[in-house]
Amino acid sequence: MTILLNPGPVVLSERVRKALTKPDLCHREQEFIDLQNKIKNSLLDVYQLPAEKWAGIVFTGSGTSAMEAMMTSLVPAHGKVLIIENGVYGERLTKIAKIHDIAHVVLHHEWGEEIDLQKLEGELQYHKELSHVAIIHHETTTGRLNNIDAIADLCKKYGNVPLLLDGVSSFAAEEIKFEEWNIAACAATANKCCHGVPGTSFVIANREAMGLMSVTPARTLYLDLVTYLKNQDNNGTPFTQSIQTFYALAEALDELKDKGGWQKRQQQYWKLMNIVRDGLQKLNIKAYYDKEDCSCVLNAFHLPEGITYETLHDKLKAAGFIIYAGQGGFEKSLFRISCMGEISESDMERFVEEMGKIINS
Ligand SMILES: *Cc1c(COP(=O)(O)O)cnc(C)c1O
Repeated sequence: MTILLNPGPVVLSERVRKALTKPDLCHREQEFIDLQNKIKNSLLDVYQLPAEKWAGIVFTGSGTSAMEAMMTSLVPAHGKVLIIENGVYGERLTKIAKIHDIAHVVLHHEWGEEIDLQKLEGELQYHKELSHVAIIHHETTTGRLNNIDAIADLCKKYGNVPLLLDGVSSFAAEEIKFEEWNIAACAATANKCCHGVPGTSFVIANREAMGLMSVTPARTLYLDLVTYLKNQDNNGTPFTQSIQTFYALAEALDELKDKGGWQKRQQQYWKLMNIVRDGLQKLNIKAYYDKEDCSCVLNAFHLPEGITYETLHDKLKAAGFIIYAGQGGFEKSLFRISCMGEISESDMERFVEEMGKIINS
């Protein structure tokens, strides 16, 4: 069996895989509504969010659809969002804003750079009109875990500006302080740290923030979260959902709970990542960041001297491991390893062993 060390889709557990073959359902029948409600409750459970204040809104699409739904459905017609970029996904938020004609300003950083809090403070002071700040929690481009504590503090200090958080590659594995960070909405997906299959995404939205949006015109038909929330609160769905992937997500969230929640998952990912970091260090392969700056989910490494990414990838694939290339400008210098999915310590030990064989051959 091939071990996927890319950041989703993940290697499935047997129980999640089996859930895919549960009985066929019509999305207008009670059985489907029960399934959808179960997922919505389980999603709130991950971070112990009360259902009076928060809503888990589930729909069909990959993580980008959740980003797009969040941006289009939470920024009102008269609103303006400050988008903080330090990688591919931050820049994707800006693309979404441009396509949908959402008023925005950008605080740009080179990929991988730490977010400059002084510059952020300047932007917040200057742009008193901001309705939201949009930011990636874990920037999967480089593995950097952005410092949301400090960013949220500044947003609170200057006008209590709420956050739109892309938690696509952190939800269920890193701490997300929904209340403390003043989050209006957090976008995520089934097939990353939740260990489900691709096809279902979701936004955890603050109900008060959603309430404000019910009086502003929708920017999109299919991705409008106001429409989804209204229907889902009334035991319905506006469109056909991807039922089999819902089954898988429901099971994956049960499994997450059985295994001790996001905190245990974070510990497990670090256990796996430490095997990789320590093992690769012995082979003189350097991590891109010190541990303090990284997520537990994915770390980037410099390509070993004299080996191209393609050679490394192909040899590892032959040995049963899929690694992930650096994006864009990092294509020729970095490779990435993710711990998501049903991966064991012995899988990671074997990975390090295979790396050793390739380096020393
Ligand atoms: C994976 C990812 C996405 C979404 O990518 P899809 O290919 O649409 O699933 C968005 N943001 C981050 C931070 C991601 O890691």
